[in-house]
Amino acid sequence: MEIKNYMEFVVQEAVERILEGRKDLCKCDQCKMDIMALVLNRVPPRYIVTNKGRIMTKISETEIQFQVDVIREIVVAVEIVRMKPRHQKQE
Ligand SMILES: [Zn+2]
Repeated sequence: MEIKNYMEFVVQEAVERILEGRKDLCKCDQCKMDIMALVLNRVPPRYIVTNKGRIMTKISETEIQFQVDVIREIVVAVEIVRMKPRHQKQE
């Protein structure tokens, strides 16, 4: 068993989904993780117990409401990373 921040799952999933819909954004690991870190520093953590990756704590509907805040924070983070990407330039 381990303690995990449930927001990591929520943010990762939401970042993947948002990046998929945006053709203009870089999808390298550096940019993705920078976006995730920015968002996770701005939203309150929700710690849960997992067992080999399986979530053992029940997530209530109200927790899911958080996703709205998460998406707003991702939109902000995406812009920050887009303006100042830290990845190695490929071209
Ligand atoms: Zn990148």
